[in-house]
Amino acid sequence: LNAILGMADLLWETELSHEQKQYVKVFRTAGENLLGLINDILDISRVESGTLTLEVADFDLNELLERTCEIMAMRAHAKGIELAFRVMPDVPSFLAGDPFRLRQILINLIGNAIKFTEKGEVVVEVKRQKPEADGQKTRTLHFSVRDTGIGIPPEKKETVFEKFTQVDSSTTRKYGGTGLGLAISSRIVERMGGQLTVESQVGKGSRFDFGLSLRVAAIPKAGAAPPDRAPLAGLRVLIADDNATSRGILEQMVTHWKMRPVTAADGEAAWRLWEEARRAGQPFELLVTDILAPPLDGLALAQKVYESVERAQAPTVLLTPLNRRNEALGSARPGVAVSLWKPVKESAFLAALLRALGKGGPAKASPAEAQTPPTPPQRPLRVLLAEDDPVSRTLAVRLLEKRGHQVTAVSTGSEALAAIERAAPSAFDLVLMDIQMPEMGGLDATAHLRKKEQSAGGHLPIIAMTAHTLQEGQILEVGMDGYLLKPIDPVALEARLDWVRGTQDERPKAAAERSAKDGEFDEAAALAYVGGDRELLSEMAELLLQDAPRLLSSLRQAADQQDSAALERVAHKLKGALSHFSTRTAFEMAERLEAMSRRKELSEAPQALEQLEQALGRLSNGLAAFARNHSS
Ligand code: ADP
Repeated sequence: LNAILGMADLLWETELSHEQKQYVKVFRTAGENLLGLINDILDISRVESGTLTLEVADFDLNELLERTCEIMAMRAHAKGIELAFRVMPDVPSFLAGDPFRLRQILINLIGNAIKFTEKGEVVVEVKRQKPEADGQKTRTLHFSVRDTGIGIPPEKKETVFEKFTQVDSSTTRKYGGTGLGLAISSRIVERMGGQLTVESQVGKGSRFDFGLSLRVAAIPKAGAAPPDRAPLAGLRVLIADDNATSRGILEQMVTHWKMRPVTAADGEAAWRLWEEARRAGQPFELLVTDILAPPLDGLALAQKVYESVERAQAPTVLLTPLNRRNEALGSARPGVAVSLWKPVKESAFLAALLRALGKGGPAKASPAEAQTPPTPPQRPLRVLLAEDDPVSRTLAVRLLEKRGHQVTAVSTGSEALAAIERAAPSAFDLVLMDIQMPEMGGLDATAHLRKKEQSAGGHLPIIAMTAHTLQEGQILEVGMDGYLLKPIDPVALEARLDWVRGTQDERPKAAAERSAKDGEFDEAAALAYVGGDRELLSEMAELLLQDAPRLLSSLRQAADQQDSAALERVAHKLKGALSHFSTRTAFEMAERLEAMSRRKELSEAPQALEQLEQALGRLSNGLAAFARNHSS
């Protein structure tokens, strides 16, 4: 696959007719699908041979669900399906378990639900299964993912959990997939001590359920105190949403905050209720509305409400599904105090309500259009490549040379050491090192070199090339600066080269202190995050590329105006978005900005902002290239 995918990339960059390009695209995609299949097979064989190890780590369940639903929302909204999630208030958020595997299961179930649903909704729910006493150390939680899709016939209900089984071959053709997702998920659930089951009705929808017993973890001390909900108590709020489940969830949340909600299913009904309440002398204080459908959509409703309160305030929170983001962003929005993307997160919703009431910082920062940061000119690098396999070596040499770099290729670790020894000091900018090579492998060679550097000084960046993410620990331990997954993806390679350029263009000391994960777009980690789904990752990348300039200009504006509340809010949002891409500097700077503004200590904000901008520029390049390569 290394050779197939790599050669496809090289071929793509040659002069091809339109027809030839289509062919290359087809076999590139086929190769990627095969890679996905191999990863799934590896996963299932790990579970079956009992070598799948579960991690135990403290995690925040609410955050895990929020992030997971956020990334899945794009797919759902692109099909016009509502995606909603709710965690019952008595479910503890801080738990111990394996968050990565839990996310893998949820991504699989939600992904299936979206895939097999043409209209309606997908709802994820977590509640307590047993009423354990408060003193007990564990909680048995019930997870469910339900959809309003095509359903599964009764006689197939059990077989869908088997390997390579799909309901029928015609759906296979229509929907694609490998038939391994549920087999993997159900086995992982079993390993975690639960059982994955399904209820389904053909044409009505399906519901997948599992229970897990998880240990309650301590609440981390760091972090901001949750905002005070007291100002919301007793307030009358009108909720307009055409999806009954979402309406129910919103209603439940505000009731939990002791507000008094009334709900409506469309704009006209909402407007009638708003007016009636006003005439009766019991006006609503807040409107929460989905973007809705004509004749009276959410924006028009917000405007009418705004005018009816004589523009004294803008009491509207607008909720927008991602596929209608342009409507929400593009037009002037008189009357909208705060705008949120769906699915709505509890914490963000609370903050939005408080802000709409003027209790949580300024209402909105104007979305002045920003320019995308300029692309820095690319400097060629001198690369030492150590790779024993002739096909992979040729491929890597070609990839590098096509980009103007100078390559010296060797085929063992000891040859690499000899080449470095022979060459003038700093003759190479970077070593790309295979891990498994005859005579001396990449790990040993690196260990040797690092030892030498201890007395001689210097730090030559070394990037491993490996087929196994599992080696990450060893790779970093011996002093390598990062790794590239085989088959080598040109975009990921470029991101690593960017990182090398970045560290060399900075002060040398800073370069030595940084770790290689700084390549702003850490493709390997980002892919692992979405379970290897390249298409999903490229959808996410496109979304971030759309959002980043706007967020950045809001940040600049907030910093100019010394508005720490706005700065904190936008930095937090950006940090969340960046976390999906496992970037380092950009994420850290957003985090730092958020912390500074929380302390209202803005003296160093301009520097942090500048670093953030630069890092975002590098990230955008990597993401844009990735999205270009992988969009279908
Ligand atoms: P894949 O989705 O790759 O085909 P899975 O193991 O995840 O593999 O699912 C196996 C089969 O179960 C699917 O092909 C489909 O026929 C059926 N299935 C899974 N989830 C759903 C769902 N939410 N609605 C309808 N059918 C489903």
